[in-house]
Amino acid sequence: MSESIEYPALYLKRGEDARLRAGHLWVFSNEVDVARSPLSAFEPGQACAIVDHRDKPLGVGYVNPASLICARLVSRGIEHALDRSLFVHRFKVALALRERLFEEPWYRLAFGESDGLPGLTVDRFGDVLVAQATTAGMERLKGEIEAALTKVFKPRQLWWKNDASIRSLENLPEYADLAVGEPLNEPLIVREAGLEFECNPVSGQKTGWFYDQRGNRDQLARLVKGKRVLDMFSYLGGWGLRAARDGASEVVCVDSSPAAVDAITRNAQRNGLQDRVRSVRADAFDCLKALREQRERFDVVILDPPAFVKRRKDLAEGRIAYRRLNELGMQVLERDGILITFSCSHHLPRTMLLEGVQQAARHLDRQAQMLVSLQQGPDHPVHPAIAETEYLKGFILRVLPA
Ligand code: SAH
Repeated sequence: MSESIEYPALYLKRGEDARLRAGHLWVFSNEVDVARSPLSAFEPGQACAIVDHRDKPLGVGYVNPASLICARLVSRGIEHALDRSLFVHRFKVALALRERLFEEPWYRLAFGESDGLPGLTVDRFGDVLVAQATTAGMERLKGEIEAALTKVFKPRQLWWKNDASIRSLENLPEYADLAVGEPLNEPLIVREAGLEFECNPVSGQKTGWFYDQRGNRDQLARLVKGKRVLDMFSYLGGWGLRAARDGASEVVCVDSSPAAVDAITRNAQRNGLQDRVRSVRADAFDCLKALREQRERFDVVILDPPAFVKRRKDLAEGRIAYRRLNELGMQVLERDGILITFSCSHHLPRTMLLEGVQQAARHLDRQAQMLVSLQQGPDHPVHPAIAETEYLKGFILRVLPA
């Protein structure tokens, strides 16, 4: 008898096992047979066996009675407990994919549900790991996760960057701390495509770097030689510095965060690109309007904003914001220019982003041609049964006079 059978059962109502059997990993609170297994009997994050109405166990997971997604399935079958050895196995499987994809150990090592680790992401920066738990279940398993990461990677440092706003849905506090290793007096370095960027796992955005855009940035090489490039929402200059390295004549990076803008200057120097890269601290919408008034024009405009649609109910408003942003972007684009535009809002369908771009183009009496469709990189795999895992959508477009 394995230890996991000891976990208390969370019983599903009749028929509510179908979505899980089809591959999904979430249980919503209205799907639980609360007469048999009252949610209030569980502690936040407590491990459970998820069981169908005929008493057949689907697998092992964890509960949060306070959350709309009240349970997540971590392991099918009931042979495996939620412990260090399960995490070791998951991390090794995740690592095998990344080692196939990348030459150097800089990538998203684990992407939640898609890597069989609901509620957990881990980014790797060489021998430094930055983990983020977004559910009470993963928060409770922190000790097992730390032990597993230490066993597989022997990291110099392991950080918890547990400050995502979605943690509030699980009643979790926001904090960042160092779980393994000593504090360092030097910045954390990201290596990407032969460039080095300094970032900060504690004060930076998300876990410090946007690995999801790496493959998309590879597209720049054939588009920017001798061109003027505008990198809007630049953060640490991931797009802008790549463009400069790939032969752009001039790059302007814009971000509203003073820390990001300072880091771009240092990152440009670090890579010997300071003569071609300028960084500006400004609100993107204000800055685009000012550039338009000054009749500034760029050959390539990159728009990589934060999510405008954080909740489904913000969709109508967010959709308008994407359209406005793209219209402003086109107004500073040369007559025959390239627009590279993104949305990382998983609630905003891909077609809606493209529709917004097309409406903006028509409004300005311009013609758009979609050249390339972009998505998050393969170290952020999409789980085909879980739509939320596909969040980044983007396009490379040529924008001409009508
Ligand atoms: N392009 C970046 C990631 C961008 S993340 C990369 O590839 O790494 C979004 C960035 O937008 C953050 O750095 C944030 O500081 C900035 N930001 C958020 N709101 C903004 C606004 N209104 N104007 C300008 N920048 C903004």
